[in-house]
Amino acid sequence: MSTQVTALPDRFCTWCKVPMRKRLVGDEAYVHYICPKCLFQHTCRWSHSPGKQLSS
Ligand SMILES: [Zn+2]
Repeated sequence: MSTQVTALPDRFCTWCKVPMRKRLVGDEAYVHYICPKCLFQHTCRWSHSPGKQLSS
């Protein structure tokens, strides 16, 4: 349980414009977002392969 949730990109609710809660799901392959106010949910792919972080 050493998941670095802080490394996940923030996402704001489409409707409330508040920061959504985020957690890794699917064996850390996806980020699941949920709005604490309206419970709007969003899931997007999360690729965190080491050594490939904006090193252009
Ligand atoms: Zn919301």
